Amino acid sequence: MSIDDVVPTATTWTTGRIITKEFPTPTTVRLRMHVEDRLRHWPGQHYLIRLRAPDDYTAQRSYSVASDESDPLLEFLVERLPNGEVSEFLADVAEVGDVLEMRGPIGRWFTWDTRTPALCLVGGTGVVPAISMSRAARHAGTPDLLRVVAVGRSPEELPYDDELHWIGATVAYTRHADGTRVPGPPTPDELLPLLDGVELAYVCGSSRFAGLAESLLVECGMAPEAIRVEQFGATG
Ligand SMILES: Cc1cc2nc3c(=O)[nH]c(=O)nc-3n(C[C@H](O)[C@H](O)[C@H](O)COP(=O)(O)OP(=O)(O)OC[C@H]3O[C@@H](n4cnc5c(N)ncnc54)[C@H](O)[C@@H]3O)c2cc1C
Repeated sequence: MSIDDVVPTATTWTTGRIITKEFPTPTTVRLRMHVEDRLRHWPGQHYLIRLRAPDDYTAQRSYSVASDESDPLLEFLVERLPNGEVSEFLADVAEVGDVLEMRGPIGRWFTWDTRTPALCLVGGTGVVPAISMSRAARHAGTPDLLRVVAVGRSPEELPYDDELHWIGATVAYTRHADGTRVPGPPTPDELLPLLDGVELAYVCGSSRFAGLAESLLVECGMAPEAIRVEQFGATG
């Protein structure tokens, strides 16, 4: 089955109810939502969440789906940015039971079919699509086809740190010594063996992270056309 068989090219606005709300790290909020008339999604896709004020002013932002298709709820992990219009609302104001306007799933380019040998090189909240991909791989019985390299400052600040270790991801802390490696971004020596047999690479994170990660992959011999990049840049 390919993405064209299941993902509609046009999506319409629907609503999602917040079922659970947690703060897995000091700066992130995890929302699990029940979405009305939910459409099938592929790992790597995202939703738009739209906030509407009483005067009908709206603000909408994109959020990657962390859950896989087998999960009855959609899971999102949002970093609370200081003065961020939508992320602050989701972290500080939105409550369990609230209903939000949503549209998705969106994005065909940054999806993984669970059959192509792939590597995710992701940083910070950019780990979200890699989590969806690894959950989908487990469900599809193809976890060996996905390698994940995740970069974060420390275990306390890296979203899904426990799950990343559990799936066997290579985790590079930039400001924390875990006794296994010198703190810092992944090196070519660490990345090269993981690229053996890999046909596609997915890069996700801040604009700065994405630039560095893409350069590192190319330095390690990955063809630029085999690298798919998603940047979580500021909207402001
Ligand atoms: C495809 C895609 C998927 C994404 N997935 C995720 C995800 O899974 N999780 C996640 O957390 N994010 C994700 N993002 C990012 C997300 O869409 C938002 O950009 C992010 O949440 C910030 O939105 P905001 O409304 O909170 O902040 P904004 O109001 O857009 O502001 C962003 C930052 O810029 C600053 N700022 C705003 N305006 C100005 C200004 N005029 N001058 C200076 N600074 C300013 C704010 O203080 C804030 O820190 C994704 C983005 C894309 C494109």
